[in-house]
Amino acid sequence: MRILVIEDEAKVAQALKQGLEAEHYEVTVARDGNDGFFHASAEVYDLIVLDVMLPGRDGFEVLATLRKRGIQTPVLMLTARDGVEDRVRGLDKGADDYLIKPFAFSELVARIRALLRRGRSDQALRLRVLDLEVDLVTRKVNRGEETLSLTGREYELLEYLMRHQSQLVSREMIAQDVWKEESRVTSLDNVIDVHMARLRKKVDPEEQPKLIHTVRGLGFVLQEQHP
Ligand code: CA
Repeated sequence: MRILVIEDEAKVAQALKQGLEAEHYEVTVARDGNDGFFHASAEVYDLIVLDVMLPGRDGFEVLATLRKRGIQTPVLMLTARDGVEDRVRGLDKGADDYLIKPFAFSELVARIRALLRRGRSDQALRLRVLDLEVDLVTRKVNRGEETLSLTGREYELLEYLMRHQSQLVSREMIAQDVWKEESRVTSLDNVIDVHMARLRKKVDPEEQPKLIHTVRGLGFVLQEQHP
């Protein structure tokens, strides 16, 4: 597998190259946007690690130009810690994933593996509604800049709602697909409601627009606007 790293900071670039080579990837480093674009358009890579802040053309420009030319190589962008807009902008411009600097090398490798495994199937690695984001690789959940601490079951429930965003999700669906207890005699409705109440407290704090809505008598829907 061939990876192109476009990163101007020599130390970071060197660390990425060494670390990824130790994971048996073949790594090419480009030190600015122009050089990176040249490599990305002249050769075939399985993945591109692209820093946003670059001399010459920045990461967004490189990405936009590549996509415009029909080059669909998966791109993992490296963004600054406080750059929420950068992350969204990168994904809008056709990045497949992002990682916030500074990052743990193990997470970079996990994301690269997930992207390479995904191949061309276009399967999302992150789900987003408004400022709520679920990271399917690390199972980390953020609302804005806040990282939410969810139990395993709460996470599964939220991931299920996110995968069905803007759709009505009934308690029967949740019982079957999240709890996976089909042969239960007693209803799980109360259990589900308790977990849902805890999840909502975390996902929808009072000062934020509500994302999880109750549809009376029918179930729940996760979406930006009130149903
Ligand atoms: Ca940089």
